Amino acid sequence: MIDFPRRHRVPYDGRFRIGDLDPDPPKASGSEAKLEAELKESVARLDELQRKLFADQHHALLAVFQAMDAAGKDSTIRKVFSGVNPAGFRVHAFGRPSDLELRHDFLQRVAVRVPERGKIGIFNRSHYEEVLVVRVHQAALAAQSLPDAGGKGFWEERFESIRDFERHLARNGTVVVKFWLNVSRKEQKKRLLDRIEDPEKNWKFRLGDLDDRALWDDYQAAYQAMLRATSRPWAPWYAIPADDKDYMRAAVARILVETLEKIDPRYPKVGAAQRRELQAGRKRLRAE
Ligand code: AMP
Ligand code: MG
Repeated sequence: MIDFPRRHRVPYDGRFRIGDLDPDPPKASGSEAKLEAELKESVARLDELQRKLFADQHHALLAVFQAMDAAGKDSTIRKVFSGVNPAGFRVHAFGRPSDLELRHDFLQRVAVRVPERGKIGIFNRSHYEEVLVVRVHQAALAAQSLPDAGGKGFWEERFESIRDFERHLARNGTVVVKFWLNVSRKEQKKRLLDRIEDPEKNWKFRLGDLDDRALWDDYQAAYQAMLRATSRPWAPWYAIPADDKDYMRAAVARILVETLEKIDPRYPKVGAAQRRELQAGRKRLRAE
């Protein structure tokens, strides 16, 4: 089986170069059928691991998804978690901040959505928009009315805040794993056109998405800076080729499985007191 985590982990040394990546999966990554079979296996395994995570109660898992429009964030989340008990995970999509959110520090709205121990939390967009859309669009930063917006060291300090925040989460039992879905400009065009041509997808199309597309190079620069500054052992980024959806889903699912396996959640050991309760319960039920 392909070693997906090793293949796609963004190194922690800050030297990552976005230009070295291919939005297409490596050749010989397996047929569509094989990738689908792998996804299916991972989906089942995720359900099993989530149950143990819940029973164990020592850790939470936070999975962050970032990407350009139409890279496949929504469908990847839908497919990968299709077999997990809905009570065990929660997806939160972060859109444009409200007026009130804008008056708080940028981590405030995120912090309250971090999953509690035992749960899986999924961020469809996240605090990382704060170094992406907010970095690329002047107006988004201006809307925050910060004392020294965009000044010297501003973005480096934001990265530092994010690293510290995620480290704090890690120390408190939240395992953070982050996916950047790397779609090519060409494939995005195809998928956006598809949203226009397919009546069932029309609702997904927003003209504003083309403004972001027009700033493609600025976004790529922002992604590179973000990936360099915030892929760390306690919260690694994975850069997943997104032009092939089967590959992307199989890779994301497998990386999540391996992340949970490393947590190694276990059903709690039954102690003497509980064993007595079990025996008492058996006795009562049998006597009915
Ligand atoms: P979508 O995920 O396509 O429904 O769109 C959500 C929109 O909200 C995207 O255009 C994001 O760039 C935008 N967004 C998310 N977080 C922020 C943020 N912190 N500041 C400004 N815009 C944001
Ligand atoms: Mg959108």
